[in-house]
Amino acid sequence: AKADGKGGYATFTAELNVAAQRRVRLEESLRLTILRDELSLAVQSQFGPAGDIRGAEVLVRWLRGPEGVPVSPAEFIPVAEASGLIKPLTLTVFRQALEIAAQLKAAGLRIPLSINLSSDLFRDSALIDALVDLVADSVVTPDALMLEITESLFIDTHPDLLRNMARLAELGFAFSLDDFGTGYSNLAYLKRLHLSELKIDKSFVDGLPQDEDNRAIVLSIISIARQLRLRVVAEGVETSAQADFLVAHGCELLQGYLLHKPSPAEEWLGQLMDGIEK
Ligand code: C2E
Ligand code: CA
Ligand code: CA
Ligand code: CA
Repeated sequence: AKADGKGGYATFTAELNVAAQRRVRLEESLRLTILRDELSLAVQSQFGPAGDIRGAEVLVRWLRGPEGVPVSPAEFIPVAEASGLIKPLTLTVFRQALEIAAQLKAAGLRIPLSINLSSDLFRDSALIDALVDLVADSVVTPDALMLEITESLFIDTHPDLLRNMARLAELGFAFSLDDFGTGYSNLAYLKRLHLSELKIDKSFVDGLPQDEDNRAIVLSIISIARQLRLRVVAEGVETSAQADFLVAHGCELLQGYLLHKPSPAEEWLGQLMDGIEK
């Protein structure tokens, strides 16, 4: 390797160190944030073709990171996954989501909440037990939730994963396969999982309806979903041309900035409640 020079080995090493240091700082800070119960949730509504609210996804928020400004989950979720902090983080998210679900139930609203679950957690029976207990101890039933799992994990359908998933399905939990098509699509495993829903990743929705490749991918996903009797959700819908294309081709649920930007949980609930009072 080069010893120095612009863009050479030394610079590369220095950049690596900066990145590594940031990760360490994020991890330490995230640990404290979870301990102090300072993570919060944003909620993004999902709509049917007629514009009716059908569900909502909860997204974790870290509003005051080490620099006092928000840190994106795209940055801190991988840190949480690599450090084991993903377990207490997920418990916090579940607890808060169950509180929202309880308020929806009290208001007579049937709006299932989608919760993101990192794939590796499905192999952790103790954590699954803890999540099941949280739900059992709440007024909420499993059908008020939708568990979103990311596709990458299914590279190998680990027996523990299949067992835990089957157990949860038996208890009435439903599953959505998140970011479908971005991982190692082995279609054979789709049958073996207890899925209710496929979620089309934003990267495929981008460029619709012009982009030929994305159009072909989206149409195939909708067709696969139909044949396996799974519901399809499209995420990252930003334009009405995208929405029109998706609805015209049988996508049942739409999620994206065009329809609703994620808003803080209290605000989201407040607006819903205002809506039913009128
Ligand atoms: P995801 O599950 O694919 O979630 C969708 C992401 O796209 C969210 O970003 C959402 O805010 C954003 N989004 C929604 N509609 C639009 C749109 O129309 N345009 C654009 N540009 N973006 C849109 P967010 O909240 O930053 O989350 C990023 C990722 O972090 C999520 O991707 C998910 O994989 C992960 N994540 C978020 N919350 C949790 C959590 O509680 N647990 C776990 N394990 N992962 C989480
Ligand atoms: Ca998701
Ligand atoms: Ca995801
Ligand atoms: Ca996605």
